[in-house]
Amino acid sequence: MAGETSGGPRDFIRQRIADDVAAGRNDGHVVTRFPPEPNGYLHIGHAKSICLNFGVAREWGGRCHLRFDDTNPTAEDVEYVESIQRDVRWLGFDWGEHLYFASDYYQRLHDDAVELIRRGKAYVCDLTGDQVREYRGTLKEPGRNSPWRDRGVEENLDLFARMRAGEFAPGSRTLRAKIDMSSPVIVMRDPVIYRIQKAHHHRTGDQWCIYPMYDFAHCLSDMIEGITHSLCTLEFSDNRTVYDWILDQLDTPCHPQQIEFARLNLTYTVMSKRVLKRLVEEGHVKDWDDPRMPTLSGMRRRGYTPEAIREFCESVGIARSDNTVQFEQLEFCLRKDLNLKAPRVMAVLEPLRVVIENYPEGQVEQLEAVNNPEDPAAGTRHVPFSRVIYVEREDFMENPPNKFFRLAPGREVRLRYAYFITCKEVVKDPETGEVVELRCTYDPATRGGDAPDGRKVKATIHWVAAEQSLAAEVRVYEHLFAKADPYDLPPGGDVMDNLNPSSLRVLTDCRVEPCLADAQAGVCYQFERKGYFAVDSDSRPGKVVFNRTATLRDTWAKVASKQ
Ligand code: ATP
Ligand code: MG
Repeated sequence: MAGETSGGPRDFIRQRIADDVAAGRNDGHVVTRFPPEPNGYLHIGHAKSICLNFGVAREWGGRCHLRFDDTNPTAEDVEYVESIQRDVRWLGFDWGEHLYFASDYYQRLHDDAVELIRRGKAYVCDLTGDQVREYRGTLKEPGRNSPWRDRGVEENLDLFARMRAGEFAPGSRTLRAKIDMSSPVIVMRDPVIYRIQKAHHHRTGDQWCIYPMYDFAHCLSDMIEGITHSLCTLEFSDNRTVYDWILDQLDTPCHPQQIEFARLNLTYTVMSKRVLKRLVEEGHVKDWDDPRMPTLSGMRRRGYTPEAIREFCESVGIARSDNTVQFEQLEFCLRKDLNLKAPRVMAVLEPLRVVIENYPEGQVEQLEAVNNPEDPAAGTRHVPFSRVIYVEREDFMENPPNKFFRLAPGREVRLRYAYFITCKEVVKDPETGEVVELRCTYDPATRGGDAPDGRKVKATIHWVAAEQSLAAEVRVYEHLFAKADPYDLPPGGDVMDNLNPSSLRVLTDCRVEPCLADAQAGVCYQFERKGYFAVDSDSRPGKVVFNRTATLRDTWAKVASKQ
């Protein structure tokens, strides 16, 4: 049956939908929607909602709408509308012709509001925002009725028409549902359903100066589109009572079922669009698509694949109570996918010059290297080798501790796909004492990486030819926040205080294999022994720019951190 793994439905939402379909509710149809507000870019939390809504629709042969919940003109923008569509498509989902905007329903929503007034279920209130809050009461105390609550229908109709005509100042009046000021569910205490806002809307322009509130617009938009299951996050649980109340008052032809699930939280990450927006506006990151951002556009630029993100969303599951997922789980899904796909190349991020004294001057050999051991069809390529090469600075230690098996004075190691070399001499800067060059010898009999006499070396290191390699810039990222819980703050603290000051390190003198000369932006490579790196759109001829997508699991780093 749809939505099932071998053990039955995967989660409680799919269970519920399976039950509804089995009982013949909604004529057995399943229609869902993903309803972003276009006030920011989508993030990994939205991906969970997208995968759920589109996934459920696909599993039951139904459909999923993309609906922009664009009812707050001051915060919204076409830039966000466009980026959201791009990101949903990139994730691998298709809404077909079912693209909708709540703003397209403004006239209908307005008419429904008028109908509520006619039925004595809504009234124009002259309290200010502060007064509305004051009258609302608390969890312990019931609210008090607004002095305007018992206005007659005719007066309410007249005032609402004049609100719409622009006669009143923003904030001076609202339209409120007449529900119950003593309800234990605070959102039921006469929620505001329309407010005055003299703002230009990105779609309706200056046509309206009253705008519907979320609680009013959402349930009716769902109803208009014939949504069967309105899946949303837990913070809307209380709003379900308003959702149901409004649909009940208006005798709507269908009544979508709201079901709540836990939102995704990830360690070292924030998911609030408000905070993400501040990160951009205050310049803590370059833009919404900065590769450190948990936005889908940032993750795409960083080298994440849609497959990895979908797999991650599937692996976290759909729960009924909030929890926080380890960032490592996301990286696990990423590595699993990139391991299969990413072509392997050699790149030296922090180069140390090595001269191979017994290698003929001017000679260049082409050595054969495997493109992807996980994918034989990816074939092989040629890597040039010559007398002067670069190796990674951290692959040499003058006084190596136990368990450091790479290059050291007198030590022999294997150069990947090439030869064994032995370090004969260390050249230092006479002023600073810094190691600037290694003088080595190579054993011509070890070409390809094995010694005919059977002798072993304990380490294989990567390298590039000095002259034939290309210059590259590599942007090395760490978590954007220094704490697993960015909101772990002293009283009065600001989440920005927990930013990780070293979330970006730019390495400008890297050297990469010549095959990367035409590397296309967005493509992700595995730099052997270093991790996954994606070509950034800032790349220029003569200087390729890479973003570090993720490290490989580094056994030495583990040993070193234990010592
Ligand atoms: P804000 O951060 O301003 O509260 P939002 O993230 O809720 O906004 P919306 O555009 O309203 O933004 O979200 C669209 C849909 O995505 C909603 O149905 C919402 O429940 C869902 N969603 C948002 N964040 C998450 C998350 N972290 N995990 C799962 N679903 C989410
Ligand atoms: Mg929201």
